Amino acid sequence: MNVYSFPHGGLVYDDPSAPQKNSAVNAFLPSLSVIPLGYNNKKAYPVVSPGEYVKEGMLIGRAAGSGTGTVNAHATVPGRIIKKISWNDCDNLNNEALVIKMEGTFEKLGRKEEVFPWNNMNGYDIQKVISEYGVIEMENYGKPLAEMISSARKEEKLTLVIRCIFDDPWLIADYALCKERLNAVIEGASIVAKSCLKVSRIIIAVSYTEKELGQMLLSEAKQITVPLSIILTSSRYPQRNKRELELALRIYEKKENLKLGSFLILGPAVLAAAYDAVVYKKPVLERYVAVGGSAVKKPQIMKVRIGTRIGELIEQCGGFSVKPERIVTGSPISGKEVMYLDEPVVKTCYAIAAMSASQTALNKPLNCINCGECRAVCPVGLDPQYIYKCIKAEQINNDLSTGCQGCGCCKIVCPSALPLLETIFGRNQG
Ligand code: SF4
Ligand code: SF4
Repeated sequence: MNVYSFPHGGLVYDDPSAPQKNSAVNAFLPSLSVIPLGYNNKKAYPVVSPGEYVKEGMLIGRAAGSGTGTVNAHATVPGRIIKKISWNDCDNLNNEALVIKMEGTFEKLGRKEEVFPWNNMNGYDIQKVISEYGVIEMENYGKPLAEMISSARKEEKLTLVIRCIFDDPWLIADYALCKERLNAVIEGASIVAKSCLKVSRIIIAVSYTEKELGQMLLSEAKQITVPLSIILTSSRYPQRNKRELELALRIYEKKENLKLGSFLILGPAVLAAAYDAVVYKKPVLERYVAVGGSAVKKPQIMKVRIGTRIGELIEQCGGFSVKPERIVTGSPISGKEVMYLDEPVVKTCYAIAAMSASQTALNKPLNCINCGECRAVCPVGLDPQYIYKCIKAEQINNDLSTGCQGCGCCKIVCPSALPLLETIFGRNQG
């Protein structure tokens, strides 16, 4: 079978401090949950007040409306709302959350769940349910899935891509989810395809290093009526990025003489969340998270209630082996700095990495030695060394950094540990 790849740059990225391939363990239920009222500075309005009792899965924050980028928020444990809090994150964006003190009985956990058939639902009704239960992209900035479906409907021809590409060891929680919830991922894709109305093909894109997982997904997909194919991709970082995956898909399209149209690319976590919303009428209550890093005693993959505080999860991993120098949510390459251990696991948090000083000491910036490594790995063909120097010298031509994807390949290979990603991508964003 052919292996499809983006044409230029990239690298093999490994990090032995990430959790290894294993089944996910259940994180303890949090005695205090911090439930965020919004993502990426897009806030939902609280519909409950401090002192009120809430049930597991109950709506506690309502989205501002369709097309606003906001999603509904739900109580992930039963209990009493004790307060509303707000804090500024590392990007100085303000976050708001409701704090729940766990009390009473669970409505869903440990009970046999009622199944709601969706075959007779139309695409718009499915979208409404997905919106009602607060399903978001489960990574990046947390785009509401219902809004992604609305945009996808405007395309003339559409291919839904199930992205099971593991080019970064910190995506291991997605891998565990895929293996443990094959049916939810595949049926979730059928549900989203129906809601989009005109998906003409579903493609399962799998790293060639995980062929066995690809075969498992394919056998699970036998009932799907939409034409379906599987492609193997390289596992070179950043193959999973939208741009690099689309380049590989276009090569496949040409080779197979297909007309794929536009792509709606979704990972396993959002497809499983869509499945839970439509099949069980269940909001996003938990997610798979990889917890590890060189400062954590026992890295592991965990099934975590949204709102669990990061410090509690680390304690469950045996605590810190050494004082952490840096903690991020997401991959260390592109993750978001954690400022307080009381920050909660949010729907978009697929990993938590706590790094020791010895690991980050490797990253103290030195002078550029003109090795050219950054140029060799940039998938977009930029010259990061040159752009970095221009930005530092304030000799800026804005075109220079245009096209930077923020993949961080340049930063990973730079032997002088220069902050190429932050400087170049930061400028491109600004
Ligand atoms: S972060 Fe930007 S400049 Fe650096 S390798 Fe990626 S695309 Fe190229
Ligand atoms: S990789 Fe780092 S040291 Fe090498 S040329 Fe690029 S900026 Fe300079």
